Amino acid sequence: MIHISDKRDCCGCGACVQRCPRQCIALREDREGFLYPCVNPEECVGCGLCEAVCPLAGPAEKELPKEALAVKNRDAGERMSSSSGGVFVALARKVLARKGVVFGAAFDGKWEVRHTHAETLGDVRPMMGSKYVQSRMGNCYREAERFLEEGREVLFSGCPCQIAGLHKFLRRDYPNLLSVDVLCHGVASPKVWRRYLDEAFRSSGAVITGIDFRNKSMCGWKDFSLVVRGKYDTETGGDRVLLSDRHYENPFLRGFLSDICLRPSCYACRCKNGASRSDLTLGDYWGVQTLMPDFDDDKGVGLVLVNTGKGKAAWGGLDMEVRPAALEAAARFNGGFKEEVRPYPERGRFFRMAGAGESVEAAVGECLSVSLCRRIEWKARSIAAYIVGKSRWDKRLWRMDNDIQGEG
Ligand SMILES: Cc1cc2nc3c(=O)[nH]c(=O)nc-3n(C[C@H](O)[C@H](O)[C@H](O)COP(=O)(O)OP(=O)(O)OC[C@H]3O[C@@H](n4cnc5c(N)ncnc54)[C@H](O)[C@@H]3O)c2cc1C
Ligand code: SF4
Ligand code: SF4
Ligand code: SF4
Repeated sequence: MIHISDKRDCCGCGACVQRCPRQCIALREDREGFLYPCVNPEECVGCGLCEAVCPLAGPAEKELPKEALAVKNRDAGERMSSSSGGVFVALARKVLARKGVVFGAAFDGKWEVRHTHAETLGDVRPMMGSKYVQSRMGNCYREAERFLEEGREVLFSGCPCQIAGLHKFLRRDYPNLLSVDVLCHGVASPKVWRRYLDEAFRSSGAVITGIDFRNKSMCGWKDFSLVVRGKYDTETGGDRVLLSDRHYENPFLRGFLSDICLRPSCYACRCKNGASRSDLTLGDYWGVQTLMPDFDDDKGVGLVLVNTGKGKAAWGGLDMEVRPAALEAAARFNGGFKEEVRPYPERGRFFRMAGAGESVEAAVGECLSVSLCRRIEWKARSIAAYIVGKSRWDKRLWRMDNDIQGEG
């Protein structure tokens, strides 16, 4: 049966939970706000299925992409509502037109991020746009399996570890499955996100009606903004923009982009760069202004990696502007290709401050404003650790211990 002692060994995909025949595994939130499996040993029959479907148990074979493309959806509205080039919605349209089903991450009524499925374009729209918080899978693998067994086409999208989890869960190749992952630099803690929304909006009576992590209409695609819409309970009339922060101004995004509140498995990711077995990988074509300036209009250019023949076939017939891209050059500009994201050195302090009741804004502000002397000390320590061949992130930092808080 599954037992996690080092938090980097679990990405929270829930494949084990959904495959357990005794349903004796529950996902529970730890102090940082990430879900981990807990087995009820009384019910476990030792069948080993949970370990067999875990994407992080055992080595994964990596396959290099067959092709890299720079792309823009020709529908200007769809591209503006998407994070990058609007590829996901174009793929979804094609699958829906053939009576297929689309799985992806959307906000729920409390603005938490969950995986769900859609059978209409209207239900695909909430999946559009990146949400930089870990999404909860619920029963999506089981539901996808049911649709696949019924012979329906399924487009399943998510982070590479979620796609790796899907493939391990299914245990066989389905010709009617198209799996699509995103280039992934990491996911932030759902608890930190919840706290941020409470502190910044809900505690003062604001009702949120819309959130866009990657708004392009305020300051463009490269200088993207976090936009929150809603209204205060004292206000009459319709909703309005409550917040519009460029990514480097917003406390939540500053924390996320500094790697201070990522899931531990993101600091030792084993699912990226061809290990997830996805058919297509979608990302931002960062650096396009240098690599392909005449293609850049600051409204979003997507980078598509075609990983399999099925991915290539799915790509056909989409209404896209497409150019071949140089993978190595594109990877130099994009953090999503990095195998190892280093934890921000003050990560532990950040979670301790937040746990002690400090606001997300104050904890991010304090932990990110570090003196030059301290930065030099960090650098010296990591050089010393490199020389003696030891990670300065010692194992104690990731120990599971009795860190589980309650039902997720
Ligand atoms: C957490 C995260 C980190 C990322 N990091 C990078 C990066 O470092 N470099 C890079 O080039 N691109 C990164 N991306 C991908 C990029 O932001 C776009 O999602 C991608 O380029 C697809 O854009 P699109 O315009 O085609 O479609 P969009 O409509 O923007 O994409 C929506 C797709 O993203 C999925 N999605 C959204 N939020 C989540 C979530 N929380 N968990 C799982 N899936 C989600 C949806 O299911 C859907 O498939 C990241 C995305 C996410 C979600
Ligand atoms: S060994 Fe089998 S019964 Fe026990 S937790 Fe794992 S899947 Fe469930
Ligand atoms: S990675 Fe997924 S399958 Fe493996 S233990 Fe964690 S939740 Fe379970
Ligand atoms: S960095 Fe790796 S472990 Fe983290 S969310 Fe992305 S794919 Fe999953």
